[in-house]
Amino acid sequence: MCGLSKTRTKTVFERGNREAALCFVGEAPGADEDAQGLPFVGRAGQLLDKMIVAMGLSPERDVYVCNILKCRPPDNRRPTPEETATCIPYLHEQLANVSPKVIVALGNTAAQALLDTKLGITRLRGQWKLYRGKSLVMPTYHPSYLLREGPTQRTAKQEAWDDLQKVMKELGLSSPKKP
Ligand code: URA
Repeated sequence: MCGLSKTRTKTVFERGNREAALCFVGEAPGADEDAQGLPFVGRAGQLLDKMIVAMGLSPERDVYVCNILKCRPPDNRRPTPEETATCIPYLHEQLANVSPKVIVALGNTAAQALLDTKLGITRLRGQWKLYRGKSLVMPTYHPSYLLREGPTQRTAKQEAWDDLQKVMKELGLSSPKKP
């Protein structure tokens, strides 16, 4: 059994539409998600929803949102390789059921786990990859990273938006507004 089950409040599996063509995968629940049992409901989630709305989509109706880990790591530390290996079969099953056309991998942990690579998000972002020969994957920055204050955030936000525009084009969605 995974040790995170001792410290979590609620397991956090999913939100959105299980039949969506677009799926967003993050890292792991934080404090707000652990309390509510839903992914991306805190500050990062609010930004994620803004990005989804800016794409012209509804967070409830048009996308499916989940994480690599289903339990919150204490103090929001990075998941260990063992925790990821223990939990990822759930994600594989979720993705097999939803069968999205496109998966947006948010940040290092999601991109590395989904694509089975050690390359960092700065190298991976913006380029199409394939998940299990079925779904296209667009790696991009995690909304928590975009929320940090720093000299590189302006560029990162632009790059993340460029990545989402590629996703929209692939899904045949038209002319998004910049958030
Ligand atoms: N960050 C994540 O990666 N996932 C969440 O659900 C919330 C914050």
